[in-house]
Amino acid sequence: MGTVAKSVPQTIRLILGDQLNINHSWFANVDSTVLYVMAEIRSETDYVRHHVQKVAAIFTAMRHFAHELRSRGHRLHYQRITDAGATRTFADLLQGLCTRHNVGSIEVQEPDEYRLDTQLRSIEAQVGIPVRMVSTEHFYTDRLALSSMFPGRTTWVMEQFYRRMRKEHRVLMDGDTPQGGTWNYDSENRKKWSGSPPLPPVRSFGNDCTDVLADITASGIETIGSIQESDLLWPCTRAQALEALDDFVSNRLPWFGPYQDAMTAQGWALFHSRLSFALNVKLISPREVIDAACSSSAPLPSVEGFVRQILGWREFVRAVYWATMPSYASLNALGHQGPLPEWFWTGETKMRCVRHAVTQSLEHAYAHHIQRLMITGNIALLLGCHPDAVDAWYLGIYIDAFEWVEMPNTRGMSQAADGGIVGTKPYVSSAAYIDRMSDYCTGCAYSKKDRTGEKACPFNALYWHFHHRHRNHLEHNHRLSMVYRTWDGMDATVRSALLERGDWLVNNARAL
Ligand SMILES: Cc1cc2nc3c(=O)[nH]c(=O)nc-3n(C[C@H](O)[C@H](O)[C@H](O)COP(=O)(O)OP(=O)(O)OC[C@H]3O[C@@H](n4cnc5c(N)ncnc54)[C@H](O)[C@@H]3O)c2cc1C
Repeated sequence: MGTVAKSVPQTIRLILGDQLNINHSWFANVDSTVLYVMAEIRSETDYVRHHVQKVAAIFTAMRHFAHELRSRGHRLHYQRITDAGATRTFADLLQGLCTRHNVGSIEVQEPDEYRLDTQLRSIEAQVGIPVRMVSTEHFYTDRLALSSMFPGRTTWVMEQFYRRMRKEHRVLMDGDTPQGGTWNYDSENRKKWSGSPPLPPVRSFGNDCTDVLADITASGIETIGSIQESDLLWPCTRAQALEALDDFVSNRLPWFGPYQDAMTAQGWALFHSRLSFALNVKLISPREVIDAACSSSAPLPSVEGFVRQILGWREFVRAVYWATMPSYASLNALGHQGPLPEWFWTGETKMRCVRHAVTQSLEHAYAHHIQRLMITGNIALLLGCHPDAVDAWYLGIYIDAFEWVEMPNTRGMSQAADGGIVGTKPYVSSAAYIDRMSDYCTGCAYSKKDRTGEKACPFNALYWHFHHRHRNHLEHNHRLSMVYRTWDGMDATVRSALLERGDWLVNNARAL
């Protein structure tokens, strides 16, 4: 760390592990009165049990970023997790630095998570030095986007938000109309993948994280999942993130649209971008990702399908998070209380779809959206698992899991625990949907066709059991009227056999 005259008041600027945006205006000029601070810190490694690749990728990306800052001439204090006297919280860290330096002010970029926002806001009182929050300059919208876009509303529709975003930011627009004449290509984008086109090889960045892993082990951080020491495949620098974007646009984007809902046991990433980690730690910006997709020669349905995820869903769930926290974190609209079965941590279940989705999550810290929603999320919801347990699993296991994006997706979209704020109906299905969109059912120990009996696919009876037990809550939802008509039209003996099997499955989930 360089030095400045003791009498000159300094500004401390704290950079969090998911704020690795080298294009932030903070870094435009070198200022010798500014001391940047980065820290590998226990309050961040321990709030949930994370996947080992997630901790390793964040530390690796932070260390690269620190190197970059120093090489550009910025002064930096960097705390490694194994440093003697390493503090466990940001407050203690800043307090210590303020006693050692003549600090006049502290600046932070807005954290994305409520937990950190609360922590950072309390630092001013603890340290006795003013703390100023500035934008991360990453997102298209600010935290309060929903109240400024839809004043007075307490429920919001993603599609309306998305169209406003397209118009406001001039993305895929011809004047006031959407390019191609329609806002949505979902009907063209629901294909099953049956082996063709071939899956492009997964681009790995082979980051050597031997040192980082040694530090994680030495400091006793408890993690889940596995990692190959010298092959952390996730992009951990801006250059790697740009390469990953380029690889996606050239090799996957043309097929992204048609196969975005497909699932297969023959691979683990299909035509998805795997850019979520780089985006969420801000190595790249949503603008540059969207610009690259829009200026590519990929077919419009693929480009629109991709843009919708980032300009639509990503910005929308963030805005929902900030409009509803902290109460959102304890919503449990369906009153689910069940534990998460042990096989969520091992993958040892006979259900081939769940086994594949969980096993690849443990191996790669990644599953794509439909696996998260319609396999692991689906089974957790059908079994009635407590949303706190489901949230903790998703928050821990995925490389891209940060609460602002994980929670509205998990508690909201996937577990319907928010009473319909994010999703207009619960995302549950029987085996028929899984079979339509994947090759999972072929070779499964369970029969996709049977609804009752030991060999019957558990999703089948659970699907009806779920709708039956939540009838009071769900039957007035017009999107479910067909479901209840079909249920009511079934023979009473069939219904009771389904409920009996459903009861057994809910009570014996660990045996599935
Ligand atoms: C239960 C559940 C939990 C999830 N938890 C997370 C999470 O912790 N972190 C996270 O970034 N995403 C989460 N998602 C959303 C989505 O599944 C991931 O963003 C996506 O799978 C990341 O892989 P990708 O980069 O290959 O995405 P792609 O399919 O290539 O999509 C491109 C980008 O769009 C954005 N995106 C896509 N869908 C969503 C969405 N629903 N919400 C927000 N952004 C989206 C992501 O930034 C993603 O990188 C979750 C979804 C579900 C159903």
